[in-house]
Amino acid sequence: ADEQNIICGALELHRKTAKEIMTPLDDVFMLNIESCLNFNTINEIMKQGYSRIPVFENERTNIVSMLFIKDLAFIDPDDNTPLRTVSNYYQNALNFVFEDTTLDTIFKEFKEGNKGHMAFIQRINSEGEGDPFYEVVGIVTLEDVIEELIQAEIVDE
Ligand code: ADP
Repeated sequence: ADEQNIICGALELHRKTAKEIMTPLDDVFMLNIESCLNFNTINEIMKQGYSRIPVFENERTNIVSMLFIKDLAFIDPDDNTPLRTVSNYYQNALNFVFEDTTLDTIFKEFKEGNKGHMAFIQRINSEGEGDPFYEVVGIVTLEDVIEELIQAEIVDE
């Protein structure tokens, strides 16, 4: 029965798409690249408790960088270090995927590991007057994908 559940879970990963399981952008804790890593900002980051924080410029849909909590290890709040300085220093890889990408593809990319365990989910915005453009609408992490796998197992039984 376990083997059957695993097969069912795997088939679900093949069917489900990023946009179905993503954490919507409105619910994502992010930082503006213009922020200053002072006491208040670092306090807020620690209160949120996330290990990765997307960094945006101008618009929240415009992700330009990723801050890892571990990147703060050598930051002294009294130095008022600009977030931009830290972002430029670490240059952590960003992983953008289209909203219709299936979870098996995302899972495979996470396992390869070279772009980290968070993906930014993009869609094409063609609503305005101008040319269509990509915009980020949410995030998916390895934990989101594994949760899907487990839920599929439970439901199928
Ligand atoms: P963490 O290691 O930071 O706890 P996980 O990868 O374990 O993050 O993800 C746990 C849940 O939190 C997932 O649903 C994921 O989409 C969400 N998540 C991760 N980072 C953030 C963030 N910065 N803001 C909001 N939600 C987040």
